[in-house]
Parts: sequence; structure tokens; C-alpha cells
Amino acid sequence: MSEPKQPLLKADTSEEPIVLDPEAEKKEILKRYRAILRACKATMDKGDRKMIRKAFDLSLEAHKDMRRKSGEPYIFHPIAVAMIMAEEIGLGGVSIVCALLHDVVEDTQYTLEDIEKLFDKKVAGIVDGLTKISGVFDHTSSLQAENFRKMLLTLSDDVRVILIKIADRLHNMRTLGSMPKDKQLKIASETAYLYAPLAHRLGLYSIKTELDDLSLKYTEPEVFKSIALKLQESKKEREKFILDFTKPIKAELDKEGYKYEIKGRPKSINSIWTKMKKQEVSFEEVYDLFAIRIIIDSPLETEKADSWKVYSIVTDHFTPNPDRLRDWISTPKANGYESLHTTVMSKEGKWVEVQIRTRRMDEIAEKGYAAHWKYKEKTTESALDEWISRIRELLESPESNALDFIDDFKLNLFADEIFVFTPKGEIKTLPVGSTALDFAFEIHSDIGEKCIGAKINHRLVPLSYKLNSGDQIEILTSAKQHPKDDWLANVVTAKAKSKIKAALKEERRKLAEDGKKFSSES
Ligand code: MN
Repeated sequence: MSEPKQPLLKADTSEEPIVLDPEAEKKEILKRYRAILRACKATMDKGDRKMIRKAFDLSLEAHKDMRRKSGEPYIFHPIAVAMIMAEEIGLGGVSIVCALLHDVVEDTQYTLEDIEKLFDKKVAGIVDGLTKISGVFDHTSSLQAENFRKMLLTLSDDVRVILIKIADRLHNMRTLGSMPKDKQLKIASETAYLYAPLAHRLGLYSIKTELDDLSLKYTEPEVFKSIALKLQESKKEREKFILDFTKPIKAELDKEGYKYEIKGRPKSINSIWTKMKKQEVSFEEVYDLFAIRIIIDSPLETEKADSWKVYSIVTDHFTPNPDRLRDWISTPKANGYESLHTTVMSKEGKWVEVQIRTRRMDEIAEKGYAAHWKYKEKTTESALDEWISRIRELLESPESNALDFIDDFKLNLFADEIFVFTPKGEIKTLPVGSTALDFAFEIHSDIGEKCIGAKINHRLVPLSYKLNSGDQIEILTSAKQHPKDDWLANVVTAKAKSKIKAALKEERRKLAEDGKKFSSES
């Protein structure tokens, strides 16, 4: 067993610009192109192969005189983005074609019409979306928010736009070393602010982690270097600990005849740093906090039972902390994450987090929604659709000013989630800190506006009551009720905020009109 490849190594190697003679360069380009085909072999048919070749030829021709800041041929970039789509997000065909073409319309003389003629409406639509949202952040702050809004509108048309945008950003972050200092800082901060949370929301955990680590590398280079070095130095010790810890579990799993894989990975550099800052502790106090992951091969029908069986094996050998049991198999997170987490005491007296999941769950956790689509016979209504429709509601609300919107959006991206229930037992996902009033607006804006209080688990509470996971909520309404100014302080969801603001504004307008009427009558 070994630690998986560290993102930081990937970034470091690709930063070395490769300077080759023209012949060798051509060979290298072809080699990288063939690697894409290999990576998406499983999902590809003959038509896809042809289309990908056409996209590659066009991109190669269009970018032929361009070089990256590192001196490399520009085509390395679209090839790398296509490779991320295929290998790390797990998408094929159209996604790879669009990734190869993503900078063609923006940076070369080829037009959208050319793309549509050579490919089709769908490909042209995605490339158009990508062209429109690129360079989004090069302007003033209000323009940023406005464009970000457009970007999300495009996202609701085809989610591949946003996935390619994230892959594009990931490759630019991996090769950020060739950029001037001021650009590095700007790109790294907006990556941490926008792209990493977006990747997280879409369930792309490994990409999110890498984006955060790369961002830290440029915003806090000293911190990054020192933690990376210390992780390297403590690697042997960590591996030995993992080996000892998993020995009895492995023996038992073998005896039961399970097919499994066990991974032990340290926390990411960024999460170690976040913890050091938050708890004001040293590296030595957090570096050995890591998660052991047990991935089992299990058919869909028995995966829940098998996961709990493994849980039982683990807790036969180690005492679990009852407060740290998380069951995201019975209730998956809104972004599709499924797993069983427990924290147990090792023989050395150290707490170790153990994550138990099946191969299918692991793939979803690592690759996000793309993996979801692969297993879609199980997901009836994907949580992604729900997320997109939520974003759409926000965008369509006339009251949501672009900048307010981005604040609210950021809040929702960063917040953790709670699960609550309607009186009929329907489950709703809300950000942590949500109140009874947020829940009322979540049900319907009419119910929100007429809300006078709530019954939580049959107990009467005020509308400012903060909800906890598992609460069952009945909203009490009155026809005479209407939104008050102080309600804004009692909600956290973007939806409730924008609805209350809109209602207050409408009320003020009516009051002013009544006032006018009154004075003209007298
Ligand atoms: Mn690009």
C-alpha cells in the first residue's frame, strides 16, 4: 500500500518547460494526443474517434504559431485540458472535442460558424459558452459578478461548459510558474475564491483539493514549501503506522472473502494549513491526522449491508468515537457524495478517521457527477439538476443585484449542509445555520411570506429558530402576516434573502403609491 500520487508533484513536473526540436515536438504532440484516446477508450465509439481527430487537427492548425508563456507549443494546453476531462473527470466524446477546441474561437481567426459547420450545434454551443465566459475576471469587480452570473446561466444549458472551465483552470494552475508574479497572485486567489468551491459543489473532490493546494503554493509560498517538506520527511513513519493499523482489518476482510483496496492518505497541504491556523497548533500536532479509506467491490443490491459489515469489522478491533459516525450512505450529500465515516482509537492512542465505501461510491467521490451519469440507473433525480434549478431561481429573480448574488452564492458554496424533514417526511437539504424561516421559503415563497412560526418536532418555536439535522418542521402561517425588515437578519439562504428583499421593496412601492393617491384626493 502506498500514498496516492501527490498533486504537488504533478504540478512541479509540468512546470518544467520542454524545449524540443520541431521533429521531436511533433512526436511529443502526437504522443499526448494518443494518450487522450487511450484514456477515454471505454466510453468511445467510432464516431467519437473521428470527431476527436477532427477537433485535434483543427486545434493544432489554429494554434500552430502560438506558444505558451513557458515556450511550449500552445497545443499542449488544449490537449492537457482534454486529458483532464477524460482521465480525471471521466467524460468522453463531446467533452473532449470541446476541450480541444476551447480556446480556438477566442484566440485564433476561426469563428463560431466554422465550428458549427465542421461539427454541430451542440459543440458550437459549448465552445460559445466557453468563449463568452473566458477573461471574465479581467475586469472591474461588478463586471466580474455580472459575468459570473452569465457563466452560470450558460452552465444551466450544458454543464460541460463549467466542467471544461474547471479543467482549463486546473491546467493553468499546474503551469502557473511561468506567469509573472502579479498574475500568479490574482489567478491563485480567484481559484481559491471561486473555482475550488465550485469544484467542491460539483463533487470533484480531488480537483478541489489540488486547486486549493496550488492556490496556497502561490499565495503563501513559504508556508506551502515548509509543509510539503515536512510531509515528505514524515512519510516513512506515516506509512508504517498505516501498515500496522490496517493489519488486523485486512486479515478479517480476507477471511470474509471481500475484494477490497485500502488507501491511507495524509490531509492535503491546504487543509493542514487551515487546521494549523484555526486551532493555532503546530504542524507536528496535525500532520498525522489522516483518513484510512476502505474501498470494497460490492454489487449495488448489497452495498449498504456490505459497508456496515466492514464497519462492524473495523469497530471489532478499534473503539469508535460515537460522536463521529457519519452515514452518508442512507442520506447522501446534495452533491452526490456517499460514504460511511467513523473515527476510531488506534493502539497508539491516536484518533484515525476510517472511510468505508464501495467502488461505485469512491468513483463518484473522486470524479463527481460524470461518474454519477455512468451509474444513472440508480440516481433517479440527480442532485445536480436540483442545484442548477436553485441557481436558476436566483438568477431569474429580478431583485438579485449581481454583487449581492455573488455574496449569497459564495455563502452557499462554503456552507456545510443539514438535512431536515417536512411533516410528510420529505427530505430537504439546507446550509448550516438555516432557520425555520429559511425552511418556509424553501417550501414556497408564499409560505415564507406568511410564516408566523413553526413547530419543530411538535414543539412551538419562533421563525428565527436555527434548525438542526433531523428536525421535522411544520410551518405555521397567517393570512395577515407579511415580511418585516428584521427578517433579513434571520435567514441565511440566498433564496429567502432575495424573496424577502423583493417583497419589502414591493411593499414600499405600494405605500408610496397609496400616499400619492391620498394627497391627490385631498
Ligand atoms: Mn484555456
